[in-house]
Amino acid sequence: MTLSSRPKIELHLHHEGAAPPAFIKRLAQEKKVDISRVFNEQGDYSYTDFWDFLKVYEAATSVLQTPEDYARLTRAVLAESAANGVIYSETFLSPDFCGGRDVGAWREYLHAIREAADQAEREDGIVLRGIVTCIRHFGPEKARETALCAAETAGDWIVGFGIAGDEQAGKPKDFAYSFDMAREAGLRLTAHAGEWGGPDSVRDALDDLRVERIGHGVRAIEDLALVDRLAEDGVVLEVCPGSNIALGVYKTWADHPIHALRERGVKVTVSTDDPPFFHTTMTDEYDRLAATFDWDEGVFEDIENTSLSAAFCDQATKDALKKRLETR
Ligand SMILES: [Zn+2]
Repeated sequence: MTLSSRPKIELHLHHEGAAPPAFIKRLAQEKKVDISRVFNEQGDYSYTDFWDFLKVYEAATSVLQTPEDYARLTRAVLAESAANGVIYSETFLSPDFCGGRDVGAWREYLHAIREAADQAEREDGIVLRGIVTCIRHFGPEKARETALCAAETAGDWIVGFGIAGDEQAGKPKDFAYSFDMAREAGLRLTAHAGEWGGPDSVRDALDDLRVERIGHGVRAIEDLALVDRLAEDGVVLEVCPGSNIALGVYKTWADHPIHALRERGVKVTVSTDDPPFFHTTMTDEYDRLAATFDWDEGVFEDIENTSLSAAFCDQATKDALKKRLETR
């Protein structure tokens, strides 16, 4: 079996960040908005450095404005994922961008996204679930409103709560109230840490937000006591190597710590983060990991099983996915 045809589980994907450039370009044309600067001659997203990436990301995603836009985005994203063998995906959704944190408006966006996801599941066999995500640099007050949206819509489809955005803004404990609210609503928890922040950011996310998964978390490698704690406690890292390399967290694939973390017993998984912005796909990630670290099918099988166990969906969904992994 080729790596591209292996059934894959993806746990760390930003819905807007996964928007194919051709889709965004078409939407911008329909809305008569000029965002031509975000594309290069080949029609891919183009930026010079991290700060320019943020500007390009904001400009590109600014054309996503209505529930209908999000329904179409969902189809475009899932078609791309399914083409790379992804059978289950968890996507980060922010009520900040979907209805301005108003619960009623958020429900309308969610309804549109779910309908599109259900259609993709029927047609392409890919299963999607949502993780409501607050934006760290928007501050704790707005995070509470986001957590309320999450709590009000928690269930079999919205399965988790998380935090993304600028890791240097504020401290995880500022957001503890929101995470408590989400936990009480039955949501599973993850937090971005250990990407731009060092090992302490991972420790703070574990201690102050009591999350079971960490988005990225790779910089834990700078503190072996923390690495051992992650391994002992079974904390799952949502590792996105291509993203880390595209944004300069690590210079080359060989410098990336995913292999070292795994060797030391940490449960690592593989995801793409904002794939078209980092010019990657799940297949590309697999190919690069196999080429760099000599990973064989057995390693990927192990990672896929880890990902499925760490997924936030219900057991019936997991059982069905497990069967599909086993018939690979
Ligand atoms: Zn991310």
